[in-house]
Amino acid sequence: MSNQRFKAIASSHTRTEINVEDFGRRSEYFGMNVFNEERMLQYLTKDAYDRVKAAVVSGVKIDRKVADQVAEGMKTWAISMGATHYTHWFQPLTGTTAEKHDAFFDFSPEGRVMEKFGGGQLVQQESDASSFPNGGIRNTFEARGYTAWDPTSPAFLYGTTLCIPTVFVAYTGEALDNKAPLLRALNAMDEAATTVAKFFDKNVSKVYATLGWEQEYFLIDKSLAFSRPDISLAGRTLVGQSAAKGQQLDDHYFGVIPNRVLNFMKDLEKECTKLGIPVKTRHNEVAPNQFELAPIFEETNLAVDHNLLLMDVMEKIADKHFFKVLFHEKPFRGINGSGKHNNWSLSTDTGVNLLSPGSTPMKNLQFLTFFVNTIKAVDNYEELLRSSIASAGNDHRLGANEAPPAILSIFIGEQLNEVLNELEGVTKGKLSPEEKTELKLNVVGKIPEILLDNTDRNRTSPFAFTGNKFEMRGVGSKSNCAKPMMVLNTIVAKQLMAFKKEVDQLVDKKGLKKDEAIFNVLREYIKTSKRIRFEGDGYSEIWENEAKSRGLSNNKNTPKALQVLTSKESLALFKSMNVMSEIEVRVRQEVELEEYILHIQIEGRVFNELAYSYIIPAAVEYQNKLIKNVVGLKEIYGAAHKKMSESQLDIVERISEHIRAIKIKTDAMVDERKKANNMSDINKKAFAYCDNVRPYFDEIRYHCDKLEQLVGDEYWPLTKYRELLFIK
Ligand code: ADP
Ligand code: MG
Repeated sequence: MSNQRFKAIASSHTRTEINVEDFGRRSEYFGMNVFNEERMLQYLTKDAYDRVKAAVVSGVKIDRKVADQVAEGMKTWAISMGATHYTHWFQPLTGTTAEKHDAFFDFSPEGRVMEKFGGGQLVQQESDASSFPNGGIRNTFEARGYTAWDPTSPAFLYGTTLCIPTVFVAYTGEALDNKAPLLRALNAMDEAATTVAKFFDKNVSKVYATLGWEQEYFLIDKSLAFSRPDISLAGRTLVGQSAAKGQQLDDHYFGVIPNRVLNFMKDLEKECTKLGIPVKTRHNEVAPNQFELAPIFEETNLAVDHNLLLMDVMEKIADKHFFKVLFHEKPFRGINGSGKHNNWSLSTDTGVNLLSPGSTPMKNLQFLTFFVNTIKAVDNYEELLRSSIASAGNDHRLGANEAPPAILSIFIGEQLNEVLNELEGVTKGKLSPEEKTELKLNVVGKIPEILLDNTDRNRTSPFAFTGNKFEMRGVGSKSNCAKPMMVLNTIVAKQLMAFKKEVDQLVDKKGLKKDEAIFNVLREYIKTSKRIRFEGDGYSEIWENEAKSRGLSNNKNTPKALQVLTSKESLALFKSMNVMSEIEVRVRQEVELEEYILHIQIEGRVFNELAYSYIIPAAVEYQNKLIKNVVGLKEIYGAAHKKMSESQLDIVERISEHIRAIKIKTDAMVDERKKANNMSDINKKAFAYCDNVRPYFDEIRYHCDKLEQLVGDEYWPLTKYRELLFIK
């Protein structure tokens, strides 16, 4: 057979291992390609260094003269490392990152060749915004935008290019990227959390939100992956009969990592370490060919940049090892999909994790304050937080047949539930000395210092407290963490501001002591946010019904999930927190709806191609083979052939039925697509794709998968699940 599938399988068998040497001590490599503190001290004047630090720590603006000095230092370092180009590296609203390279090379005014890179080039670069998704801003504002240096994320050398992390904004000032709103949210969080942390420790002057992501992914042999049009174009398999063996034996999870994969991982980790990404953990995941990588947590903006950079590096290193890496949330039916857990906490500049219980009642009250405020914030804005992880790919996990569900709820474990239940009973107003002592000793005091080993492991909860941090588990493997982190930090900051105000009022107006006031406010929050707490199995019908009666949202698809973005409350929230203006929110909603439409549209087109150019022809060919057989039998055996060819004819007929169904449903799907394409309202169009086009996918797939079972193996043109998932 000359089909692609067999060529790909043959080529996947010829792989020779690319041996990657262990690279010794990571500490020697760490940040080698980063313009980090060490390099800054070496290449910048003391003054320039101090100013960059001030910009990082307190957001002080860097003036042009200093920028010139920094640019000079960066250039000297980069060129000494072999760099030839520089780029402003940014995060457009769709996709992951974008870059436009410029050579350092330029002509001097006298016409001499020189290496040019000054403060001007460092601080700002023009970029044609019109070719990036920019929603309504495209019409309302000028299409031109520019990228501007983000000094809080250090420049790094990637290949021979100096990459400068930047925000991407329109000339009218609106953010056209994911980084700018994230930075604003982190800033709001810093302000709000610092004032609250000062209740407990006057020395705190800055609070950082921290993020530790865990990236799941699949590795597929490159030839096999590219032999499938659906993987190449849609990033996932649209058809495919499950392999006889899937993940039911649980023999992959934490199993021995295959050698070829291990070499890829070593290579990847080496590159990441040089780039300053603190990679730490690697292991097999639940599904065959599925793996996970996790770093040590970092300040959120930096962690987001590092995750984006990681995904890029992964693709390149995978290619070198003849793999294709799949970041899609559900590349294969019937086995585990991929997510990106976002571990989130708050850390002070005095080195305290605010979500970590401490050794004294006061430290525990501080912990409870941030803990309960987070719960309250998520309760208030559960639907908005859900919207931040919506995407066409993630719809296959959230609300489909996989945990976590589309309903947001919080799991905190039995011990902390008990603590909160006790706190609910705190007296209103002033507390008697006895009650205070009781609270401090027996309630707050009983929060174990180390909860880490005690928290029950609930794997299906979308938002779980795991000892000293919350873990947001619904984030898609492909998505940019900036989106959920922007929302989470905004809503918690908003909540902390309200908390501060309420406590101050009780102290000023009702004459309560600070700790009494805190207990009083927390008690009310615990009472009013109860519905968001759920300890059971997050993926069950019983919970769906229960959640509904609690008034929690359950938005199972992207168009529905995105609606809340432009609700009055959401717009007011983003505006009041200085995170996004109304137009910026509207643009995001529009861009995400558009992105959703394009994804489903591409999948629809690929279905067309699969049906008409691959599956139907293969089925017909095999059918001809059977018919030839029947004709032959008749020729030789005459009337006696009937019984002999009964089964063949049965298969022939069943094949025809499936072909017919595939054709009818594919054509109907195309009709629905055409109708949807004629809609000018983007919202209506997204719902049309979701409700009228997408449902055909499962139906078409059903018949395709049936044919895969009926058609002779050597006639089948698409690389099968067992080949994609089990060839090493
Ligand atoms: P798992 O969820 O797989 O059991 P762990 O609980 O060990 O894994 O931790 C997972 C992630 O949590 C790691 O990526 C780590 O960096 C991150 N993490 C740990 N502490 C914090 C923190 N204070 N803030 C943010 N992330 C954290
Ligand atoms: Mg985890």
